[in-house]
Amino acid sequence: MLLVLLPTLAVLQYRWVGQVSAAERDRMQRNVRIAAAQFHDEFDLEIARAFLALQVGPFTAREGSSDRYSETYDTWVNTAPHPQIVANTYLIDSEQGRLRLRRWDPATHEFTMAPWPGILERWRPQLDQELASFNAGQLPDRRLAFRGEDSLLVAPLRSFVVNPAASTPQTVTPLFGFSVIELDLQFIRQQLLPEIAERHFTHPDGDMYRVAVIATDDPHEVIYRSVPEATLDMARADATEQFFGFRGGGPGPPFRPRSDRRPGTGDRRGPDTDLRPGDQRRPDFRWTLLVQHQSGSLEAAVAGARRRNLAISFGILLLLTVSIVLLAASSRRAQRLAQQQIEFVAGISHELRTPITVIRSAAENLSHGVIGNVDRVKRYGVTIETQARRLGEMVERVLQYAGIESGRAVAARSLLDVEEIIESAIEGATPVAGSGIVLERHVASALPPVVGDSAALRSAIQNLVANALKYGGSDRWVGIRVTQERERRHSVVRITISDHGPGIPASELPHIFEPFYRGADAVNRQVEGSGLGLSLVQRIVVAHGGRVTVSSRPGSGSAFTITLPAAAAEARVPAVPGDLRTPAPTHQ
Ligand code: ADP
Repeated sequence: MLLVLLPTLAVLQYRWVGQVSAAERDRMQRNVRIAAAQFHDEFDLEIARAFLALQVGPFTAREGSSDRYSETYDTWVNTAPHPQIVANTYLIDSEQGRLRLRRWDPATHEFTMAPWPGILERWRPQLDQELASFNAGQLPDRRLAFRGEDSLLVAPLRSFVVNPAASTPQTVTPLFGFSVIELDLQFIRQQLLPEIAERHFTHPDGDMYRVAVIATDDPHEVIYRSVPEATLDMARADATEQFFGFRGGGPGPPFRPRSDRRPGTGDRRGPDTDLRPGDQRRPDFRWTLLVQHQSGSLEAAVAGARRRNLAISFGILLLLTVSIVLLAASSRRAQRLAQQQIEFVAGISHELRTPITVIRSAAENLSHGVIGNVDRVKRYGVTIETQARRLGEMVERVLQYAGIESGRAVAARSLLDVEEIIESAIEGATPVAGSGIVLERHVASALPPVVGDSAALRSAIQNLVANALKYGGSDRWVGIRVTQERERRHSVVRITISDHGPGIPASELPHIFEPFYRGADAVNRQVEGSGLGLSLVQRIVVAHGGRVTVSSRPGSGSAFTITLPAAAAEARVPAVPGDLRTPAPTHQ
Protein backbone atom coordinates (compact mmCIF):
# COMPACT_ATOMS: atom_id res chain seq x y z
CA MET A 1 0.00 0.00 0.00
CA LEU A 2 2.70 2.44 1.09
CA LEU A 3 4.92 1.24 -1.75
CA VAL A 4 2.28 2.51 -4.17
CA LEU A 5 1.37 5.60 -2.20
CA LEU A 6 4.89 6.97 -1.83
CA PRO A 7 5.84 6.90 -5.55
CA THR A 8 2.43 8.40 -6.39
CA LEU A 9 3.07 11.11 -3.87
CA ALA A 10 6.52 11.68 -5.37
CA VAL A 11 5.10 12.01 -8.89
CA LEU A 12 2.34 14.35 -7.70
CA GLN A 13 4.85 16.42 -5.80
CA TYR A 14 7.16 16.61 -8.82
CA ARG A 15 4.30 17.81 -11.00
CA TRP A 16 3.06 20.19 -8.38
CA VAL A 17 6.50 21.74 -7.92
CA GLY A 18 6.64 22.10 -11.72
CA GLN A 19 3.29 23.87 -11.78
CA VAL A 20 4.25 26.09 -8.89
CA SER A 21 7.45 27.02 -10.70
CA ALA A 22 5.62 27.85 -13.92
CA ALA A 23 3.16 30.01 -12.00
CA GLU A 24 6.01 31.62 -10.14
CA ARG A 25 7.81 32.38 -13.41
CA ASP A 26 4.63 33.99 -14.84
CA ARG A 27 4.15 35.99 -11.68
CA MET A 28 7.73 37.21 -11.68
CA GLN A 29 7.56 38.06 -15.36
CA ARG A 30 4.37 40.03 -14.85
CA ASN A 31 5.79 41.80 -11.84
CA VAL A 32 9.02 42.78 -13.52
CA ARG A 33 7.13 44.18 -16.52
CA ILE A 34 4.83 46.12 -14.24
CA ALA A 35 7.85 47.43 -12.36
CA ALA A 36 9.50 48.46 -15.64
CA ALA A 37 6.34 50.29 -16.72
CA GLN A 38 6.17 52.02 -13.34
CA PHE A 39 9.80 53.00 -13.65
CA HIS A 40 8.99 54.51 -17.04
CA ASP A 41 5.97 56.39 -15.71
CA GLU A 42 7.75 57.75 -12.70
CA PHE A 43 10.73 59.01 -14.67
CA ASP A 44 8.74 60.50 -17.52
CA LEU A 45 6.29 62.12 -15.15
CA GLU A 46 9.11 63.84 -13.37
CA ILE A 47 10.46 65.19 -16.67
CA ALA A 48 6.98 66.05 -17.92
CA ARG A 49 6.28 68.12 -14.84
CA ALA A 50 9.42 70.14 -15.39
CA PHE A 51 8.72 70.45 -19.09
CA LEU A 52 5.17 71.68 -18.53
CA ALA A 53 6.03 74.00 -15.71
CA LEU A 54 9.02 75.65 -17.32
CA GLN A 55 7.71 76.21 -20.83
CA VAL A 56 7.56 79.89 -21.61
CA GLY A 57 4.44 81.59 -22.97
CA PRO A 58 4.38 84.50 -25.42
CA PHE A 59 3.78 87.16 -22.78
CA THR A 60 6.59 86.02 -20.53
CA ALA A 61 8.85 85.88 -23.60
CA ARG A 62 8.05 89.42 -24.49
CA GLU A 63 8.38 90.83 -20.96
CA GLY A 64 11.23 88.61 -19.77
CA SER A 65 9.17 87.77 -16.70
CA SER A 66 5.63 87.40 -15.51
CA ASP A 67 3.86 86.76 -12.25
CA ARG A 68 2.22 83.77 -13.73
CA TYR A 69 5.51 82.18 -14.83
CA SER A 70 7.12 82.97 -11.46
CA GLU A 71 4.22 81.37 -9.69
CA THR A 72 4.30 78.26 -11.87
CA TYR A 73 8.04 78.05 -11.38
CA ASP A 74 7.79 78.36 -7.59
CA THR A 75 5.07 75.79 -7.42
CA TRP A 76 7.16 73.41 -9.45
CA VAL A 77 10.27 73.97 -7.35
CA ASN A 78 8.31 73.39 -4.17
CA THR A 79 6.31 70.41 -5.28
CA ALA A 80 8.55 68.52 -7.70
CA PRO A 81 10.20 65.52 -6.01
CA HIS A 82 13.51 66.38 -7.70
CA PRO A 83 13.71 69.96 -8.92
CA GLN A 84 17.48 69.40 -9.22
CA ILE A 85 16.90 67.62 -12.52
CA VAL A 86 16.80 71.02 -14.27
CA ALA A 87 20.14 72.75 -14.57
CA ASN A 88 19.02 75.83 -16.57
CA THR A 89 16.01 77.21 -18.37
CA TYR A 90 16.74 79.24 -21.48
CA LEU A 91 14.58 81.36 -23.70
CA ILE A 92 15.70 81.79 -27.29
CA ASP A 93 13.89 84.36 -29.45
CA SER A 94 14.81 87.12 -31.83
CA GLU A 95 15.52 90.80 -31.39
CA GLN A 96 16.06 93.04 -34.31
CA GLY A 97 16.35 90.07 -36.62
CA ARG A 98 19.02 88.37 -34.56
CA LEU A 99 18.92 85.46 -32.15
CA ARG A 100 18.65 86.45 -28.54
CA LEU A 101 19.41 84.13 -25.61
CA ARG A 102 18.10 84.75 -22.14
CA ARG A 103 18.48 82.56 -19.05
CA TRP A 104 16.00 82.20 -16.21
CA ASP A 105 17.43 83.63 -13.04
CA PRO A 106 15.74 81.86 -10.12
CA ALA A 107 16.90 84.62 -7.74
CA THR A 108 15.40 87.59 -9.56
CA HIS A 109 12.63 85.58 -11.19
CA GLU A 110 13.30 86.92 -14.68
CA PHE A 111 14.94 85.93 -17.92
CA THR A 112 18.20 87.86 -18.21
CA MET A 113 20.64 88.12 -21.08
CA ALA A 114 23.25 85.45 -20.91
CA PRO A 115 26.25 84.38 -22.96
CA TRP A 116 25.64 81.35 -25.17
CA PRO A 117 26.68 78.26 -23.25
CA GLY A 118 28.69 75.63 -25.11
CA ILE A 119 25.82 73.21 -25.22
CA LEU A 120 23.62 75.69 -27.12
CA GLU A 121 26.40 77.29 -29.15
CA ARG A 122 26.65 74.05 -31.10
CA TRP A 123 23.03 74.42 -32.27
CA ARG A 124 23.28 78.10 -33.15
CA PRO A 125 23.59 77.59 -36.91
CA GLN A 126 20.41 75.49 -36.89
CA LEU A 127 18.62 78.15 -34.85
CA ASP A 128 19.83 80.86 -37.24
CA GLN A 129 18.37 78.86 -40.07
CA GLU A 130 15.07 78.53 -38.22
CA LEU A 131 14.99 82.28 -37.70
CA ALA A 132 15.70 82.92 -41.37
CA SER A 133 12.85 80.60 -42.41
CA PHE A 134 10.54 82.28 -39.92
CA ASN A 135 11.44 85.72 -41.25
CA ALA A 136 10.79 84.39 -44.73
CA GLY A 137 7.24 83.73 -43.61
CA GLN A 138 7.43 80.06 -42.59
CA LEU A 139 6.02 78.97 -39.28
CA PRO A 140 8.65 77.82 -36.83
CA ASP A 141 9.47 74.15 -37.11
CA ARG A 142 7.72 72.71 -34.15
CA ARG A 143 9.83 69.62 -34.46
CA LEU A 144 13.13 71.34 -33.95
CA ALA A 145 15.35 68.73 -32.43
CA PHE A 146 18.74 68.82 -30.91
CA ARG A 147 19.41 65.29 -31.99
CA GLY A 148 21.64 63.28 -29.73
CA GLU A 149 21.45 65.96 -27.06
CA ASP A 150 19.85 64.08 -24.15
CA SER A 151 20.11 66.99 -21.79
CA LEU A 152 17.97 69.43 -23.78
CA LEU A 153 14.19 69.66 -23.88
CA VAL A 154 12.93 72.12 -26.49
CA ALA A 155 9.49 73.57 -26.95
CA PRO A 156 8.53 76.34 -29.40
CA LEU A 157 6.92 79.39 -27.80
CA ARG A 158 3.23 78.81 -27.50
CA SER A 159 1.41 80.85 -30.10
CA PHE A 160 -1.95 80.74 -28.45
CA VAL A 161 -3.26 82.11 -25.19
CA VAL A 162 -5.86 80.71 -22.91
CA ASN A 163 -8.55 83.25 -22.20
CA PRO A 164 -10.68 82.09 -19.29
CA ALA A 165 -13.68 83.87 -20.83
CA ALA A 166 -13.43 82.04 -24.13
CA SER A 167 -14.16 78.35 -24.43
CA THR A 168 -11.24 77.61 -26.77
CA PRO A 169 -7.65 78.88 -26.75
CA GLN A 170 -7.15 81.94 -28.92
CA THR A 171 -4.37 82.04 -31.43
CA VAL A 172 -2.08 85.03 -31.33
CA THR A 173 0.35 86.30 -33.90
CA PRO A 174 3.06 83.67 -34.37
CA LEU A 175 6.15 84.38 -32.39
CA PHE A 176 9.61 83.07 -33.04
CA GLY A 177 11.18 81.47 -30.03
CA PHE A 178 11.89 78.34 -28.04
CA SER A 179 11.96 77.40 -24.41
CA VAL A 180 15.00 75.24 -23.83
CA ILE A 181 15.27 73.26 -20.63
CA GLU A 182 18.71 72.00 -19.84
CA LEU A 183 18.56 68.90 -17.66
CA ASP A 184 21.23 68.06 -15.13
CA LEU A 185 22.18 64.68 -16.59
CA GLN A 186 24.74 64.09 -13.91
CA PHE A 187 22.07 64.41 -11.24
CA ILE A 188 19.72 62.21 -13.23
CA ARG A 189 22.34 59.50 -13.63
CA GLN A 190 23.70 59.60 -10.14
CA GLN A 191 20.58 60.30 -8.13
CA LEU A 192 17.31 60.02 -9.95
CA LEU A 193 17.84 56.79 -11.91
CA PRO A 194 19.35 54.87 -8.96
CA GLU A 195 16.56 56.08 -6.71
CA ILE A 196 13.76 55.04 -9.03
CA ALA A 197 15.49 51.77 -9.92
CA GLU A 198 15.94 50.95 -6.28
CA ARG A 199 12.30 51.68 -5.56
CA HIS A 200 11.02 49.35 -8.27
CA PHE A 201 13.59 46.60 -8.57
CA THR A 202 14.95 45.99 -5.11
CA HIS A 203 12.65 44.18 -2.73
CA PRO A 204 14.26 43.66 0.62
CA ASP A 205 12.68 40.21 1.12
CA GLY A 206 12.12 39.32 -2.47
CA ASP A 207 13.78 39.32 -5.82
CA MET A 208 16.56 41.68 -6.71
CA TYR A 209 17.13 42.85 -10.22
CA ARG A 210 20.07 44.36 -12.03
CA VAL A 211 19.14 47.44 -13.94
CA ALA A 212 20.85 49.14 -16.87
CA VAL A 213 19.83 52.14 -18.92
CA ILE A 214 21.24 52.55 -22.41
CA ALA A 215 20.65 55.11 -25.16
CA THR A 216 17.95 53.81 -27.48
CA ASP A 217 19.81 55.19 -30.52
CA ASP A 218 23.11 53.73 -29.51
CA PRO A 219 23.01 50.59 -27.35
CA HIS A 220 26.72 51.00 -26.62
CA GLU A 221 26.11 54.20 -24.74
CA VAL A 222 25.52 53.25 -21.13
CA ILE A 223 23.60 55.84 -19.15
CA TYR A 224 23.32 53.94 -15.90
CA ARG A 225 24.08 50.53 -14.40
CA SER A 226 22.90 49.48 -10.94
CA VAL A 227 25.79 46.97 -10.76
CA PRO A 228 28.71 46.51 -13.13
CA GLU A 229 27.38 43.06 -14.18
CA ALA A 230 23.99 44.38 -15.29
CA THR A 231 23.40 43.17 -18.82
CA LEU A 232 23.43 45.54 -21.78
CA ASP A 233 22.10 42.85 -24.08
CA MET A 234 18.41 43.17 -24.93
CA ALA A 235 18.19 39.44 -25.60
CA ARG A 236 19.41 38.59 -22.12
CA ALA A 237 17.16 41.02 -20.27
CA ASP A 238 14.05 39.78 -18.52
CA ALA A 239 12.22 42.99 -19.40
CA THR A 240 13.01 46.04 -21.51
CA GLU A 241 11.21 49.35 -21.49
CA GLN A 242 11.83 52.44 -23.55
CA PHE A 243 11.36 55.68 -21.67
CA PHE A 244 12.34 59.35 -21.54
CA GLY A 245 9.94 60.13 -24.37
CA PHE A 246 10.86 63.79 -24.93
CA ARG A 247 12.39 64.35 -28.27
CA GLY A 248 11.36 67.96 -28.15
CA GLY A 249 10.50 67.76 -31.84
CA GLY A 250 12.50 66.78 -34.90
CA PRO A 251 12.56 63.42 -36.59
CA GLY A 252 13.93 60.91 -34.15
CA PRO A 253 15.35 57.53 -35.00
CA PRO A 254 13.01 55.27 -36.98
CA PHE A 255 10.18 54.22 -34.79
CA ARG A 256 9.99 50.51 -34.17
CA PRO A 257 6.52 49.07 -34.75
CA ARG A 258 4.75 47.50 -31.81
CA SER A 259 5.21 43.98 -33.14
CA ASP A 260 8.97 44.35 -32.92
CA ARG A 261 8.84 44.93 -29.24
CA ARG A 262 8.81 42.36 -26.58
CA PRO A 263 5.37 42.00 -25.08
CA GLY A 264 4.70 44.23 -22.16
CA THR A 265 7.49 46.62 -22.99
CA GLY A 266 6.91 50.24 -23.49
CA ASP A 267 5.12 51.16 -26.62
CA ARG A 268 3.25 53.86 -24.94
CA ARG A 269 2.99 57.43 -25.88
CA GLY A 270 4.98 59.72 -23.67
CA PRO A 271 3.50 62.87 -22.23
CA ASP A 272 5.06 64.88 -25.05
CA THR A 273 2.47 63.42 -27.39
CA ASP A 274 -0.10 65.50 -25.64
CA LEU A 275 2.15 68.50 -25.76
CA ARG A 276 2.22 68.49 -29.49
CA PRO A 277 -1.35 68.12 -30.64
CA GLY A 278 -1.68 67.44 -34.30
CA ASP A 279 1.77 65.91 -34.53
CA GLN A 280 1.02 62.41 -35.76
CA ARG A 281 4.57 61.12 -35.36
CA ARG A 282 4.71 58.25 -32.88
CA PRO A 283 6.78 59.19 -29.88
CA ASP A 284 10.13 57.62 -29.46
CA PHE A 285 12.19 57.34 -26.39
CA ARG A 286 15.71 58.46 -25.73
CA TRP A 287 16.63 55.73 -23.31
CA THR A 288 15.95 52.04 -22.87
CA LEU A 289 15.72 50.27 -19.56
CA LEU A 290 17.07 46.72 -19.31
CA VAL A 291 16.09 44.62 -16.30
CA GLN A 292 17.70 41.32 -15.44
CA HIS A 293 17.19 39.08 -12.44
CA GLN A 294 20.24 39.04 -10.21
CA SER A 295 20.74 35.31 -10.77
CA GLY A 296 21.27 35.93 -14.50
CA SER A 297 17.71 35.53 -15.67
CA LEU A 298 14.23 34.86 -14.41
CA GLU A 299 14.46 31.37 -15.86
CA ALA A 300 17.61 30.70 -13.86
CA ALA A 301 16.00 32.08 -10.70
CA VAL A 302 12.88 29.96 -11.18
CA ALA A 303 14.94 26.87 -12.05
CA GLY A 304 17.01 27.42 -8.90
CA ALA A 305 13.90 27.78 -6.77
CA ARG A 306 12.43 24.68 -8.42
CA ARG A 307 15.54 22.66 -7.67
CA ARG A 308 15.41 23.80 -4.06
CA ASN A 309 11.72 22.98 -3.74
CA LEU A 310 12.23 19.58 -5.32
CA ALA A 311 15.17 18.84 -3.05
CA ILE A 312 13.17 19.80 0.03
CA SER A 313 10.05 17.86 -0.93
CA PHE A 314 11.97 14.79 -1.99
CA GLY A 315 14.05 15.08 1.16
CA ILE A 316 10.86 15.03 3.19
CA LEU A 317 9.55 12.08 1.20
CA LEU A 318 12.82 10.26 1.72
CA LEU A 319 12.65 10.97 5.42
CA LEU A 320 9.11 9.64 5.45
CA THR A 321 10.15 6.51 3.58
CA VAL A 322 13.11 5.89 5.85
CA SER A 323 10.95 6.42 8.96
CA ILE A 324 8.34 4.00 7.64
CA VAL A 325 10.98 1.41 6.82
CA LEU A 326 12.58 1.82 10.24
CA LEU A 327 9.20 1.65 11.93
CA ALA A 328 8.31 -1.51 10.02
CA ALA A 329 11.71 -3.03 10.81
CA SER A 330 11.49 -2.19 14.50
CA SER A 331 7.93 -3.44 14.81
CA ARG A 332 8.95 -6.66 13.07
CA ARG A 333 11.88 -6.93 15.45
CA ALA A 334 9.60 -6.33 18.42
CA GLN A 335 7.31 -9.06 17.11
CA ARG A 336 10.20 -11.44 16.68
CA LEU A 337 11.46 -10.66 20.18
CA ALA A 338 8.02 -11.23 21.65
CA GLN A 339 7.83 -14.53 19.77
CA GLN A 340 11.29 -15.48 21.04
CA GLN A 341 10.31 -14.66 24.58
CA ILE A 342 7.24 -16.85 24.33
CA GLU A 343 9.33 -19.66 22.89
CA PHE A 344 11.92 -19.11 25.61
CA VAL A 345 9.36 -19.38 28.41
CA ALA A 346 7.76 -22.41 26.75
CA GLY A 347 11.21 -23.99 26.37
CA ILE A 348 12.14 -23.43 30.01
CA SER A 349 8.82 -24.75 31.25
CA HIS A 350 9.20 -27.82 29.11
CA GLU A 351 12.74 -28.45 30.30
CA LEU A 352 11.86 -27.89 33.94
CA ARG A 353 8.90 -30.17 33.75
CA THR A 354 10.92 -33.40 33.29
CA PRO A 355 13.13 -33.17 36.40
CA ILE A 356 10.24 -31.86 38.47
CA THR A 357 8.05 -34.77 37.41
CA VAL A 358 10.81 -37.26 38.20
CA ILE A 359 11.52 -35.68 41.59
CA ARG A 360 7.83 -35.52 42.45
CA SER A 361 7.09 -39.15 41.56
CA ALA A 362 10.20 -40.34 43.40
CA ALA A 363 9.23 -38.28 46.42
CA GLU A 364 5.66 -39.60 46.26
CA ASN A 365 6.83 -43.17 46.13
CA LEU A 366 9.13 -42.58 49.09
CA SER A 367 6.53 -40.77 51.17
CA HIS A 368 3.91 -43.45 50.53
CA GLY A 369 6.35 -45.98 51.87
CA VAL A 370 6.01 -48.08 48.72
CA ILE A 371 9.75 -48.70 48.67
CA GLY A 372 10.98 -50.81 51.49
CA ASN A 373 14.27 -51.91 50.04
CA VAL A 374 17.19 -49.74 51.23
CA ASP A 375 19.01 -50.08 47.91
CA ARG A 376 16.00 -48.80 46.04
CA VAL A 377 15.64 -45.93 48.50
CA LYS A 378 19.27 -45.07 47.75
CA ARG A 379 18.63 -45.24 44.02
CA TYR A 380 15.67 -42.92 44.47
CA GLY A 381 17.91 -40.62 46.47
CA VAL A 382 20.49 -40.58 43.66
CA THR A 383 17.77 -39.89 41.08
CA ILE A 384 16.38 -37.02 43.12
CA GLU A 385 19.92 -35.61 43.59
CA THR A 386 20.68 -35.89 39.87
CA GLN A 387 17.44 -34.27 38.84
CA ALA A 388 17.80 -31.56 41.48
CA ARG A 389 21.31 -30.79 40.19
CA ARG A 390 19.96 -30.68 36.65
CA LEU A 391 17.24 -28.34 37.82
CA GLY A 392 19.82 -26.15 39.54
CA GLU A 393 22.03 -26.05 36.46
CA MET A 394 19.10 -25.22 34.30
CA VAL A 395 18.03 -22.38 36.58
CA GLU A 396 21.64 -21.18 36.61
CA ARG A 397 21.77 -21.14 32.80
CA VAL A 398 18.44 -19.44 32.49
CA LEU A 399 19.58 -16.73 34.87
CA GLN A 400 22.82 -16.32 32.91
CA TYR A 401 20.89 -16.24 29.66
CA ALA A 402 18.51 -13.60 31.02
CA GLY A 403 21.50 -11.62 32.26
CA ILE A 404 23.05 -11.61 28.81
CA GLU A 405 19.73 -10.60 27.29
CA SER A 406 19.66 -7.50 29.45
CA GLY A 407 23.35 -6.85 28.68
CA ARG A 408 24.53 -7.37 32.26
CA ALA A 409 26.64 -10.47 31.79
CA VAL A 410 29.56 -8.70 30.19
CA ALA A 411 29.33 -5.51 32.16
CA ALA A 412 32.79 -5.99 33.68
CA ARG A 413 35.53 -5.08 31.23
CA SER A 414 39.12 -5.69 32.18
CA LEU A 415 42.32 -7.00 30.62
CA LEU A 416 42.21 -10.78 30.80
CA ASP A 417 44.87 -13.44 30.46
CA VAL A 418 43.41 -16.03 28.06
CA GLU A 419 45.51 -18.89 29.39
CA GLU A 420 44.32 -18.30 32.93
CA ILE A 421 40.70 -18.30 31.84
CA ILE A 422 41.16 -21.53 29.90
CA GLU A 423 42.76 -23.25 32.90
CA SER A 424 39.95 -22.30 35.23
CA ALA A 425 37.35 -23.30 32.59
CA ILE A 426 38.94 -26.75 32.30
CA GLU A 427 38.94 -27.08 36.09
CA GLY A 428 35.25 -26.17 36.19
CA ALA A 429 34.30 -28.66 33.46
CA THR A 430 36.31 -31.75 34.42
CA PRO A 431 35.02 -32.64 37.93
CA VAL A 432 31.55 -33.13 36.52
CA ALA A 433 32.91 -35.27 33.74
CA GLY A 434 34.83 -37.59 36.00
CA SER A 435 38.16 -39.30 35.33
CA GLY A 436 39.95 -40.77 32.30
CA ILE A 437 40.02 -37.54 30.39
CA VAL A 438 42.78 -36.88 27.85
CA LEU A 439 43.40 -33.15 27.48
CA GLU A 440 45.74 -32.06 24.70
CA ARG A 441 46.72 -28.41 24.98
CA HIS A 442 48.55 -26.20 22.49
CA VAL A 443 48.69 -22.71 23.93
CA ALA A 444 50.85 -20.19 22.10
CA SER A 445 53.31 -18.32 24.24
CA ALA A 446 53.07 -14.58 24.85
CA LEU A 447 49.37 -14.43 24.02
CA PRO A 448 47.95 -10.93 23.97
CA PRO A 449 45.34 -10.17 26.60
CA VAL A 450 41.66 -9.73 25.68
CA VAL A 451 39.22 -7.25 27.16
CA GLY A 452 36.06 -8.50 28.81
CA ASP A 453 34.31 -10.28 31.63
CA SER A 454 36.37 -13.21 32.94
CA ALA A 455 33.43 -15.06 34.55
CA ALA A 456 31.37 -14.91 31.35
CA LEU A 457 34.26 -16.00 29.13
CA ARG A 458 35.17 -18.77 31.52
CA SER A 459 31.63 -20.11 31.46
CA ALA A 460 31.61 -19.98 27.63
CA ILE A 461 34.81 -22.04 27.36
CA GLN A 462 33.67 -24.33 30.13
CA ASN A 463 30.47 -25.01 28.17
CA LEU A 464 32.45 -26.00 25.08
CA VAL A 465 34.79 -28.29 27.07
CA ALA A 466 31.80 -29.87 28.84
CA ASN A 467 30.08 -30.45 25.48
CA ALA A 468 33.25 -32.03 24.07
CA LEU A 469 33.23 -34.44 27.00
CA LYS A 470 29.45 -35.01 26.84
CA TYR A 471 29.25 -35.59 23.10
CA GLY A 472 32.87 -36.60 22.40
CA GLY A 473 34.21 -40.05 21.66
CA SER A 474 34.79 -42.87 24.08
CA ASP A 475 38.50 -41.98 24.18
CA ARG A 476 37.46 -38.90 26.23
CA TRP A 477 39.95 -36.80 24.27
CA VAL A 478 39.60 -33.06 24.25
CA GLY A 479 41.93 -30.84 22.23
CA ILE A 480 42.48 -27.22 23.16
CA ARG A 481 44.49 -24.98 20.83
CA VAL A 482 45.02 -21.31 21.48
CA THR A 483 46.75 -19.14 18.89
CA GLN A 484 47.21 -15.51 17.99
CA GLU A 485 46.31 -14.53 14.43
CA ARG A 486 45.97 -11.43 12.32
CA GLU A 487 42.62 -10.73 10.83
CA ARG A 488 42.01 -7.67 8.66
CA ARG A 489 45.04 -5.95 10.21
CA HIS A 490 43.78 -6.68 13.74
CA SER A 491 45.20 -9.12 16.18
CA VAL A 492 42.84 -11.85 17.41
CA VAL A 493 43.03 -14.78 19.80
CA ARG A 494 41.59 -18.12 18.58
CA ILE A 495 40.53 -20.80 21.02
CA THR A 496 39.60 -24.11 19.38
CA ILE A 497 38.08 -26.94 21.39
CA SER A 498 37.84 -30.25 19.53
CA ASP A 499 36.75 -33.78 20.28
CA HIS A 500 36.84 -37.21 18.64
CA GLY A 501 33.08 -37.71 18.88
CA PRO A 502 30.59 -38.74 16.20
CA GLY A 503 30.29 -35.12 15.01
CA ILE A 504 27.18 -33.11 14.27
CA PRO A 505 24.92 -33.96 11.30
CA ALA A 506 24.89 -31.24 8.63
CA SER A 507 21.14 -30.81 9.08
CA GLU A 508 21.61 -29.93 12.77
CA LEU A 509 24.56 -27.57 12.32
CA PRO A 510 22.49 -24.46 11.49
CA HIS A 511 20.38 -24.95 14.64
CA ILE A 512 22.77 -25.90 17.41
CA PHE A 513 23.24 -22.25 18.51
CA GLU A 514 19.50 -21.71 18.88
CA PRO A 515 18.23 -21.62 22.47
CA PHE A 516 16.75 -24.94 23.64
CA TYR A 517 17.86 -26.75 20.53
CA ARG A 518 19.10 -30.24 21.25
CA GLY A 519 20.49 -32.68 18.73
CA ALA A 520 18.52 -35.85 17.99
CA ASP A 521 21.34 -38.01 19.33
CA ALA A 522 21.47 -36.03 22.59
CA VAL A 523 17.75 -36.50 23.04
CA ASN A 524 17.86 -40.21 22.14
CA ARG A 525 20.75 -40.98 24.43
CA GLN A 526 19.14 -38.77 27.08
CA VAL A 527 22.35 -36.80 27.52
CA GLU A 528 21.85 -34.22 30.23
CA GLY A 529 21.42 -30.72 28.99
CA SER A 530 19.09 -27.80 28.46
CA GLY A 531 19.88 -26.77 24.88
CA LEU A 532 20.95 -23.35 26.19
CA GLY A 533 24.71 -23.97 26.36
CA LEU A 534 25.82 -23.08 22.81
CA SER A 535 23.33 -20.24 22.62
CA LEU A 536 24.93 -18.81 25.77
CA VAL A 537 28.43 -19.30 24.35
CA GLN A 538 27.50 -17.43 21.22
CA ARG A 539 25.93 -14.54 23.08
CA ILE A 540 28.89 -14.15 25.41
CA VAL A 541 31.42 -14.23 22.57
CA VAL A 542 29.45 -11.80 20.40
CA ALA A 543 29.13 -9.44 23.38
CA HIS A 544 32.96 -9.47 23.49
CA GLY A 545 33.16 -8.41 19.85
CA GLY A 546 34.10 -11.91 18.72
CA ARG A 547 32.45 -14.87 17.02
CA VAL A 548 32.08 -18.59 17.48
CA THR A 549 32.24 -21.06 14.60
CA VAL A 550 31.96 -24.80 14.32
CA SER A 551 33.56 -27.30 12.03
CA SER A 552 32.22 -30.82 12.19
CA ARG A 553 31.84 -33.83 9.99
CA PRO A 554 29.91 -36.86 11.14
CA GLY A 555 32.33 -39.52 12.22
CA SER A 556 35.38 -37.30 12.55
CA GLY A 557 34.65 -35.17 15.60
CA SER A 558 33.74 -31.52 16.09
CA ALA A 559 35.78 -28.39 16.61
CA PHE A 560 34.30 -25.19 18.09
CA THR A 561 36.38 -22.05 17.67
CA ILE A 562 36.03 -18.84 19.63
CA THR A 563 37.70 -15.83 17.98
CA LEU A 564 38.20 -12.82 20.24
CA PRO A 565 39.79 -9.46 19.37
CA ALA A 566 43.06 -8.94 21.21
CA ALA A 567 43.30 -5.92 23.49
CA ALA A 568 45.00 -2.85 22.08
CA ALA A 569 47.92 -3.64 24.39
CA GLU A 570 48.96 -6.35 21.95
CA ALA A 571 51.37 -3.92 20.39
CA ARG A 572 53.66 -4.43 23.35
CA VAL A 573 53.53 -8.18 23.16
CA PRO A 574 55.96 -10.04 20.87
CA ALA A 575 54.50 -11.81 17.84
CA VAL A 576 53.40 -15.43 18.01
CA PRO A 577 55.94 -17.98 16.66
CA GLY A 578 54.87 -19.12 13.21
CA ASP A 579 55.03 -22.90 13.94
CA LEU A 580 52.17 -22.60 16.39
CA ARG A 581 49.83 -21.11 13.91
CA THR A 582 47.06 -23.35 12.68
CA PRO A 583 44.52 -22.72 9.94
CA ALA A 584 41.25 -21.37 11.24
CA PRO A 585 38.37 -23.84 11.36
CA THR A 586 35.99 -23.46 8.49
CA HIS A 587 32.38 -22.43 8.84
CA GLN A 588 29.88 -24.92 7.72
P1 ADP B 1 22.92 -29.14 25.41
O1 ADP B 1 24.33 -29.58 25.46
O2 ADP B 1 22.36 -28.76 26.73
O3 ADP B 1 22.03 -30.04 24.63
P2 ADP B 1 23.99 -27.07 23.75
O4 ADP B 1 23.41 -25.77 23.32
O5 ADP B 1 25.28 -27.02 24.46
O6 ADP B 1 22.88 -27.76 24.60
O7 ADP B 1 24.14 -27.96 22.47
C1 ADP B 1 23.10 -28.06 21.53
C2 ADP B 1 23.24 -29.34 20.75
O8 ADP B 1 24.41 -29.32 19.93
C3 ADP B 1 23.44 -30.56 21.58
O9 ADP B 1 22.18 -31.09 21.98
C4 ADP B 1 24.18 -31.50 20.66
O10 ADP B 1 23.28 -32.19 19.82
C5 ADP B 1 24.96 -30.57 19.81
N1 ADP B 1 26.38 -30.52 20.25
C6 ADP B 1 26.94 -29.55 21.02
N2 ADP B 1 28.25 -29.76 21.19
C7 ADP B 1 28.55 -30.91 20.50
C8 ADP B 1 29.74 -31.70 20.28
N3 ADP B 1 30.92 -31.33 20.81
N4 ADP B 1 29.62 -32.82 19.50
C9 ADP B 1 28.46 -33.18 18.98
N5 ADP B 1 27.32 -32.49 19.15
C10 ADP B 1 27.35 -31.40 19.91
